[in-house]
Amino acid sequence: MTLGVHNIEVVYEDVMLVVKGASLHVPADGIVALLGANGAGKTTLLRAMTGLLDVHRGRISRGHVSIDGSEIDTRRAPDVVRAGVSQVMEGRRVFGEFTVEENLRIGAYTRSRSGVADKLDRIYTMFPILRDRRGQRAGYLSGGEQQMLAIGRALMAEPRYILLDEPSLGLAPQIVEQIRDLIVTIRDDGTGVLLVEQNAAMALSIADHGYVMENGKIVMDAPAQALRDDDDIREFYLGTGATSGSLRDVKHYKRRKRWLS
Ligand code: ATP
Repeated sequence: MTLGVHNIEVVYEDVMLVVKGASLHVPADGIVALLGANGAGKTTLLRAMTGLLDVHRGRISRGHVSIDGSEIDTRRAPDVVRAGVSQVMEGRRVFGEFTVEENLRIGAYTRSRSGVADKLDRIYTMFPILRDRRGQRAGYLSGGEQQMLAIGRALMAEPRYILLDEPSLGLAPQIVEQIRDLIVTIRDDGTGVLLVEQNAAMALSIADHGYVMENGKIVMDAPAQALRDDDDIREFYLGTGATSGSLRDVKHYKRRKRWLS
């Protein structure tokens, strides 16, 4: 059981090739981290996996996306959700004028109306703070609460796979820890997770497997432990080396290192 991306290329406006032959696999019982600098193509890859390219004037020009063996790349976004893949976009896009509970109910729209109360109860058990705030306007929640609401809303569709785009962005360290623990719970409850993160330390601390994307290509593909131990990853993504904190091109760096030695 996997969500698979098979050697895809993505173009915007028919001319800009942004993803240049990328493959990855998310098992139904795992957390997979997708790392990479700004502009590497991570969000584009997520759009390709959830049928959201067309609204951005993009399309898959080669390869395909599959869920548990069935191709889903020609399906529209609501059908991809019905097929079992939900995405939480970067930037906590909740409906600010609606209440917390209305936001959660919107998340269940692709499913039958029956059982919504049970699903809400499940989400409130997972996120007690959302139960406390259920009648409040989502726009008044803190950043961390909005992130939890965005994740809760995606879970209302009962996905088999959830794609999270930068869930820790702009959140205080303590809240990032809560989000990290929630992601582990989601995996343990039986939903495969694809975690796109600039916070590589957080992502690799819980991931089973990781990919590094640069310039539209997957340049590393390894168990998370191997990535945590990799000198270049430590240097550029985990902030433990001389150029700590910078998200530079690992491949370019490796080439330079070979050239210098
Ligand atoms: P970030 O972390 O900054 O979100 P990313 O790895 O998610 O980066 P993408 O957002 O996928 O990268 O962007 C990859 C490239 O595609 C960038 O050069 C970006 O400018 C370009 N791009 C993104 N969306 C469009 C679009 N709708 N039309 C044209 N080019 C786009």
